[in-house]
Amino acid sequence: MSAAIVGSDVPIGPHHKRTFTGFRDLKKEIAKWNPKALDLWEKFAVPENDDKESFQSSFVRHVTSTLARSVYNIDNFSAYQATAHTVRDRLIKRWNDTQQAHAEVGPKRVYYLSLEFLLGRSLDNALLNLGLKESYGEGVEDLGFRMEDVLDQEVDAALGNGGLGRLAACYMDSLATLDYPAWGYGLRYTYGIFQQRLNDGFQVEFPDYWLNFDNPWELPRLDVVIDIYFGGSVSKYTDNNGRVRAIWEGGEPIQAVAYDVPIPGYGTKNCINIRLWSSKPKRKFDLKHFNEGQYEKAVQAQMEAENITAVLYPNDNHMVGKELRLKQQYFWVAASLADIVRRFKKSEKPISDFPKQVAIQLNDTHPTLAIVELQRILVDVEGLEWDDAWDIVTDTFAFTNHTILPEAMEKWPVPVLTYLLPRHMQIIFDINLFFLQSVEKKYPDDRDLLARLSIIEESSPQFVRMAHLAIVGSHRVNGVAELHSNLIKTTIFKDFVKFFGQEKFQNKTNGITPRRWLHQANPKLSDLITEKLGNKDWLKDLFKLKQLEKYVDDPDFKKRWVAVKGSNKARLADYIKKQTGISVNSNALFDIQVKRIHEYKRQFMNILSVIHRYNLLKKMTPKQRKETVPRVVIFGGKAAPGYYIAKLVIKLINSVADVVNKDLSIEDTLKVVFIPDYNVSVAEIIVPASDISQHISTAGTEASGTSNMKFVLNGGLILGTVDGANIEIHEEIGDENIFMFGNLADKVEDLRHAHRYRNKQMDPALKAVLDDIESGHFGDPRIFVPLINTLTIGKDYYLLSDDFGSYLRAQDMVDEAYKDKDEWAKKSILCTARMGKFSSDRAIKEYAESIWNVEPIPVEEVREHKLHEFS
Ligand SMILES: *Cc1c(COP(=O)(O)O)cnc(C)c1O
Repeated sequence: MSAAIVGSDVPIGPHHKRTFTGFRDLKKEIAKWNPKALDLWEKFAVPENDDKESFQSSFVRHVTSTLARSVYNIDNFSAYQATAHTVRDRLIKRWNDTQQAHAEVGPKRVYYLSLEFLLGRSLDNALLNLGLKESYGEGVEDLGFRMEDVLDQEVDAALGNGGLGRLAACYMDSLATLDYPAWGYGLRYTYGIFQQRLNDGFQVEFPDYWLNFDNPWELPRLDVVIDIYFGGSVSKYTDNNGRVRAIWEGGEPIQAVAYDVPIPGYGTKNCINIRLWSSKPKRKFDLKHFNEGQYEKAVQAQMEAENITAVLYPNDNHMVGKELRLKQQYFWVAASLADIVRRFKKSEKPISDFPKQVAIQLNDTHPTLAIVELQRILVDVEGLEWDDAWDIVTDTFAFTNHTILPEAMEKWPVPVLTYLLPRHMQIIFDINLFFLQSVEKKYPDDRDLLARLSIIEESSPQFVRMAHLAIVGSHRVNGVAELHSNLIKTTIFKDFVKFFGQEKFQNKTNGITPRRWLHQANPKLSDLITEKLGNKDWLKDLFKLKQLEKYVDDPDFKKRWVAVKGSNKARLADYIKKQTGISVNSNALFDIQVKRIHEYKRQFMNILSVIHRYNLLKKMTPKQRKETVPRVVIFGGKAAPGYYIAKLVIKLINSVADVVNKDLSIEDTLKVVFIPDYNVSVAEIIVPASDISQHISTAGTEASGTSNMKFVLNGGLILGTVDGANIEIHEEIGDENIFMFGNLADKVEDLRHAHRYRNKQMDPALKAVLDDIESGHFGDPRIFVPLINTLTIGKDYYLLSDDFGSYLRAQDMVDEAYKDKDEWAKKSILCTARMGKFSSDRAIKEYAESIWNVEPIPVEEVREHKLHEFS
């Protein structure tokens, strides 16, 4: 049998075993064993003192006993470690209190299954969320270190590619802050997203071995170990009640070990958990191989077990059908479900109550096998009837779709699933059969409809369409912005809407946490806002930023607002100098596009427009040049290692930068910068420093975007297309405060058709720029041939030519508007003031109320209630 649970009966005292019947019972047991024991527990409980002195005492204790160092050999990194361990102690206390309170109350919990959590750094965030930044900051300075330097020692936890993983991280912050009983489940990759360096303008990848030093932000749970099986075979047997049941036997076990990452809420004692699974070999010899003297083979099986959670796949919005990736997915969902079912069983409630106690959110199709795994547990292990089990499954799961890009749609070959997970493949066929039978009943004889809806793609070999499985197995399906939610209902999932009805399909516009993306990343702006609003309530209710509108015409406030932006730009200019050696003028307009490099995001269009601008500047008289707005165009982002075209875009940006930045004739009116290794902590420096940020995807391709929200929240204006959340940001902040351009989503297919079949003429300005590249102006033009071909023989799939003209006009409007510094300041303030909607708190409340049906459990109220109960 699979998913046996090890460690569920670990003895903790001489007389009893750990039985998971709840914390209170264990406490009673201990009191029975020794009546004075509880006094001792009380006496030595970790004191939760948050003042400067107890920080310092804890810091010094960690330097000497945890790090085995002293004042003679402590450097910034050790100071970081000691600070982190001191904060970790406080986090563990909150984590324990929260989990204990949840166990006492036994509420419905929500489980967020995400293959990616792009957390970034934790120390600064924990200090701010716990309200300890000031006292600990002083504490560490007294001891001889600058908090800034200490914070800068931390490596990012970069267990994600981009927006999807960062969304999961923002959602965990909101779940904690809003006191929801929630857990995240993911994988503890040994290697996070690769580190990007540049060599001759080309991206080169380096492994991100982020666990090189110990990671103070995880709690190893070496006793929470779950066996996960792959392979084996299925047979039938008749149980004691005369029912024929399936049994999955044999196969190779691999152990999943839990590592818990505490996530503290802001302004609350609640601290929730992300449980990350790490794979390791089951400690037993492969006797067969061993007896045959094949030592290497025996060891190899063990090494392969460790492989499962070794690396994060570095593709964003792109499916690569590697078997190891499928194994990661099953390993992760099987361990998570075993854990969730075990926790549910502690409640001793009937299994039919499962959906009343458990909501599981699927972050994209990556965890879709969880649907099959739960059906398997209920039918094969718990012995439920198929239909009863299926009702429980569909009431439990909800699915978030993140993209309509065809190349991103997950599908797995049936033969691969059959040998890795034979029982699951049978269950998928049964799910599909019963589903299609219900479709046939409603729409008799519509065979095309059946083929379109089928979970199985009838190609050779057959494939399992994971999105179809996720829809059929969930009670709610949501998109991540209004346009995207409407598009999925009218395009890729149209037939499902026809069958299931509208109610199943919802919108949940993405959000970002204002704690990290304003309070932490932009402390000066945060302080100014708090001063004006009189308190920090806005950090928990972002709609309160609206009150800033009162001050848009207050000259003193405007001046301070602009000064903050200026100092953030100076901070970024310093960073750029340090990282690239390029000097930029922080009085210039900072024009930023940072995000994963992707054809649909159109960084290529951006750099082509930069060439256009450069050529205009060169043609200008000195007088004309004096009147133009100087610009610094900043790029950043990683290309998937196998994405050749995206990598050429990076090379082109750097080649253009080489020419432009050296050209004295344009007198510092243009600089081009590619910031290497874009990640969360780099984003925290970049985001507060924009005047303009670009979100210029082909309409209909960017499901939401979240960096658009980050920039606008920090008072940066958007230059963007009518796509994703740009549309809703526009709605909130108003026409005057955003620069929108380009064809609309409903025109895209017609334009593509015209490119394919009607010899559409290229925009002449675009043509001129391509000619310039081909002339060798930016280095050997042969390098860029495949890139330019995407616009010619590739039929310009992302419609650069169709949007280029309106893009250039929008750029001109940006320049014009920036000349009026006073008006620009007003726009900037209004941007921030009107971003209330885009807090991830709003998004999480919507999920909680209309999908999960879960309620907040504030730890402190539970504890007060308990005190009453005992007094
Ligand atoms: C927010 C964020 C993203 C998402 O950016 P988009 O522009 O929405 O694609 C990607 N990477 C990092 C590091 C981020 O912080």
